[in-house]
Amino acid sequence: MGIGRLSAQVSSIGTQRICVLGATGSVGASTLDVIERHPESYEVFALSGYSRLKELEKLCVRFRPQYVVVPDVEHQKSIQRRLIDAGLKTLVLAGADSLDFVASHQDVDTVVAAIVGSAGLSSTLSAVRAGKKILLANKEALVMSGALFMQLVRESGATIMPIDSEHNAIFQCLPARTHDSLSAIGVRRIILTASGGPFRTTSAQLLSEVTVDQACAHPTWSMGRKISVDSATLMNKGLELIEACWLFNAPPAKVEVVIHPQSVVHSLVDYVDGSVLAHLGNPDMRVPISHALAWPRRMESGVSALDLLKVARLDFEPPDEERFPCLRLARQAATAGGSAPVILNAANEVAVQAFLTGRTAFTQIAAIIDGTLNSLAEVPVVTLEQVLDADATARREASKWVGALS
Ligand code: NAD
Ligand code: MG
Repeated sequence: MGIGRLSAQVSSIGTQRICVLGATGSVGASTLDVIERHPESYEVFALSGYSRLKELEKLCVRFRPQYVVVPDVEHQKSIQRRLIDAGLKTLVLAGADSLDFVASHQDVDTVVAAIVGSAGLSSTLSAVRAGKKILLANKEALVMSGALFMQLVRESGATIMPIDSEHNAIFQCLPARTHDSLSAIGVRRIILTASGGPFRTTSAQLLSEVTVDQACAHPTWSMGRKISVDSATLMNKGLELIEACWLFNAPPAKVEVVIHPQSVVHSLVDYVDGSVLAHLGNPDMRVPISHALAWPRRMESGVSALDLLKVARLDFEPPDEERFPCLRLARQAATAGGSAPVILNAANEVAVQAFLTGRTAFTQIAAIIDGTLNSLAEVPVVTLEQVLDADATARREASKWVGALS
């Protein structure tokens, strides 16, 4: 049915049964914190984790899900034994097919798509195909498969609730229940805010020497390592630009990016009459997660009230695409369409992994993506097979660029 259409029906039935994909991650932890505050409304049906499996076992004891999905059979056996010993009935499943299984299970109402990167594509699409209410954090899935993703949403009647904070903010600033064309509802521009990351004021010269720890030390948000590096290169904002185009049916030219270091204004919508609606709040993922879970109602999230006097000032500045070329590359890919966003995302995942493992410098991330985009022709991507093909080709090409530039 589209963006945020069915949630009213789902939440009026009673307890929502939730599947949290990526439960051991940063978004997973914020989601479970919110769920635990409202045991009368939410029940954990399934959890998944790929690493930090001891943490995952503890989550099973805490939330007693029916299923938990782990990466492989070896862990499946040992964790199952320990959960039985602990008196739990949780069934331990293994592998990517099991993520698809729990995401589309008939007893699930809501799927929180919080796996990082392309690893979340298949399970997110399974939830979409099954017509679930989906709290979408895994922006990479939408960037990779936008056309297919939105077509499946229309066909299945799935409800997409964005929990990326900017997109959740935009959702809240748009009129209720209408997500047709932006011009039809009088929207002139969508304005995405970006903190600017840890290197907002770092000179171009020093950028080539920054370390992984510096890149992962985000000034305002606490997040997983991949998205932290994306925030430091501004690729996160580039991926979010593409995400906004799909979610809100917006051409790239209608989506602007502005740097806002305080991360208090989460995004804005500019209307033709000169009204600009903004969403403000403390930078805490429990705000968009609570909104998306409870919508159209509101519920307590555990986040303290915004203290405007403490914030005192809100600053805005233009993004510097010379020092942070990833934003420009993402806008170009959004405009080119077809396989360009798939190539952008794949090359970025390869380049960020190379940076995180000490194989390339921070400033080479953009160069690897640029090289990969320039060496591959854009092709149309409509089917999942075409998406996966374009992704695999781009990963091979990007690995060559890692070798050539490092
Ligand atoms: P994270 O690294 O903290 O957690 C990632 C989760 O995915 C973990 O549970 C991990 O075990 C799982 N995972 C990793 N590789 C996997 C694989 N191959 N197969 C299955 N599961 C795998 O990341 P995060 O910060 O929670 O981000 C998750 C997603 O949400 C990303 O797409 C990110 O862009 C998006 N997001 C995060 C935030 C945030 O504040 N952290 C905000 C907005 C959007
Ligand atoms: Mg965001």
